[in-house]
Amino acid sequence: MPARAPRVTRSEAVVIRHRRFGDSDRIVTLLTPARGKIDAIAKGALRPRSRLAGHLEPLTHAEVLLAHGRNLDIITQAQTLEGFATIRDDLDRLSLALYLLELADRFTVEHAEADAVYRLLLIALLRLARGDGEQLVARSFELGLLDATGFRPEWRDCAACGEPVSPDALAWSPLAGGVICAACRGSHPEAGPIDASVLKVLRYIQQEPYEEAARVRLTPELASGLERVMHELMRAMAERDLGSARFLSEVRQTPRAAAGEEDAEDSAAVAASAEPLPAYTEPDSRNA
Ligand SMILES: [Zn+2]
Repeated sequence: MPARAPRVTRSEAVVIRHRRFGDSDRIVTLLTPARGKIDAIAKGALRPRSRLAGHLEPLTHAEVLLAHGRNLDIITQAQTLEGFATIRDDLDRLSLALYLLELADRFTVEHAEADAVYRLLLIALLRLARGDGEQLVARSFELGLLDATGFRPEWRDCAACGEPVSPDALAWSPLAGGVICAACRGSHPEAGPIDASVLKVLRYIQQEPYEEAARVRLTPELASGLERVMHELMRAMAERDLGSARFLSEVRQTPRAAAGEEDAEDSAAVAASAEPLPAYTEPDSRNA
């Protein structure tokens, strides 16, 4: 019997991913409001009759009881608060949800408060679960995430010099994190064109309340334009500041097929095994 009872805390969490640990345990990566991203052991989670396992699948909002271990916390109890069944039943929504989990993972570090990111993620998942438009859920999560983590993109004035950008010469740079004015084009050879209507919607989503932005009608063309810009931006931000090559390849592929594999031990949130989709083309000017 231990001399002291371990300190135990109760927390809500979103399960980001898990991986096998030994013969019968799992290490579960949780995003929590107060403690940020943490790894914790779910003992016996690989055993058939585990009481924990079903509550600790990726894409679960759960309440967990954590006993503080020497190295890793130990999950002693877990209870599903929301299992997001309506997301799991729809491959497109599931793929998008896994992408959001991956983003939340990439833009947080362990043991650093992540209350804002936690809330953004949970709200986005709840919106997705109730059937909101996938494009808006994704784009508003991405923009909110960049905002919350200090990478707010600049869609109005030049991201390089701060001067207003002429509507006649619209360009943007994922590396600079926003639009680029004509005068700064020379020092940003990677900058490429951006559609005026895409830019307008990005500004709108960034500035207006979600419910207002939800009224914007997105044509398929506009939606794919928005997706292309935001995926490129998320990749650039993650690459520049988090140095994640894996993230780069995953976003390029856009998670699709990895969804729904309940027994994917490594991480259901990883689309590494997914078939590469014909994604958007890279701007060739980057090598200029
Ligand atoms: Zn400029």
